[in-house]
Amino acid sequence: MTSRTVLVINSGSSSIKYQLVDPDSGAALASGLVERIGDVQGAIIHKVDDAKHVVEEPVPDHGFGLSEVLRLFDEHGPRLSEANIVAVGHRVVQGGRFFNGPALLTDEVVATIEELVPLGPLHNPAHLKGIEVARTLMSDIPQVAVFDTAFFQDLPEEAARYGLNREVADRYSIRRYGAHGTSHQYVSGEISKRLGRDDLKQIVLHLGNGASVSAVVGAHAVETSMGLTPLEGLVMGGRTGDIDPAAVFHLVRVGGMSIDEIDHLFNRESGMKGLTGESDMREVTRMMDEGNQDAIDAMNIYLHRLTKYVGAYTAVMGGLDALTFTAGIGENDARLRAALCERLAYLGVTIDAEANARRSDEPVTISTPESSIVVTVLPTNEELAIARQALTLI
Ligand code: ADP
Repeated sequence: MTSRTVLVINSGSSSIKYQLVDPDSGAALASGLVERIGDVQGAIIHKVDDAKHVVEEPVPDHGFGLSEVLRLFDEHGPRLSEANIVAVGHRVVQGGRFFNGPALLTDEVVATIEELVPLGPLHNPAHLKGIEVARTLMSDIPQVAVFDTAFFQDLPEEAARYGLNREVADRYSIRRYGAHGTSHQYVSGEISKRLGRDDLKQIVLHLGNGASVSAVVGAHAVETSMGLTPLEGLVMGGRTGDIDPAAVFHLVRVGGMSIDEIDHLFNRESGMKGLTGESDMREVTRMMDEGNQDAIDAMNIYLHRLTKYVGAYTAVMGGLDALTFTAGIGENDARLRAALCERLAYLGVTIDAEANARRSDEPVTISTPESSIVVTVLPTNEELAIARQALTLI
């Protein structure tokens, strides 16, 4: 058994994802998922070594779900009493202006996360449930919150402040908070280590079902595409990304839609889903190959938006040294990477087709030695990043 471990918890409204991490080696010793909490039938999937243990049963609430997870650890290993867990790390999406790094979960910090619910209505209430049950069931282990927004807390004011009336913006805390910060920080940090430089101008493309871009100079984020909420920026699986806010007025006045309907439309029924009927990029690609015009258009819209952001962020930084692809689409979709890099040829980007096509769990440099920008595919590891950040407070 390793010397010390961190249990990382990502609590959603109807699910809990977890991973037992060795923060020193980076290994995941076990991982799993509680799903369909509150439904008639739920499930707990616990993975350890190469085995997968599935329990199908109703999971009425987060407390029951987590107690079942602890039972599965005891039954199938690794036994938590022997795992030397030194911290529980909780992912929290919205940290507002309060947190620029991880925070030990005291009653006061929990109350602040609760205060931030209006700014993170889809996420913070679910995180709070996970935090509450973990603090009860594992009361002897320090618990740490790691915020998705922390890496973007120190964005330059010119990037964080919208051109909105100052008094209104300040009264309602409207500014760019960003999201996926743990991933952007981890990935840009790994690239700095790989290239042995701490002064790089970097763009990180986190392309998953949710997708965001960041511009990072040295170890500091200077821009990011998600805003007040994760709706802004790139075209995503189900989200519009950037759209003229006047579309909201128009849909209310002319379309007779309610605010809740528009919220649902923009966050769940738009993006690739709204453009093609499918949110999963693999399906969109399959449709493209069948000649489906909506899918071809959607991919062009997706690539166009990416091209705009890379150009804009290169301008903001006054140059670009490293461009990195990560998350589900970024790590797996070689065609999309090639298509974007082709659009970036004007910057001097050239990629090696063979390296780009290689599938690997390890980072792969896909640019040629002649390329003016180092292009890398680097798997993100938010759990490891959360575990390591949690440890800094122990
Ligand atoms: P999230 O954490 O935001 O849910 P992920 O980073 O896990 O998302 O990415 C999930 C997405 O990755 C899927 O919706 C799918 O579109 C995409 N994806 C996964 N594998 C592939 C692949 N081989 N080719 C293209 N897209 C893929």
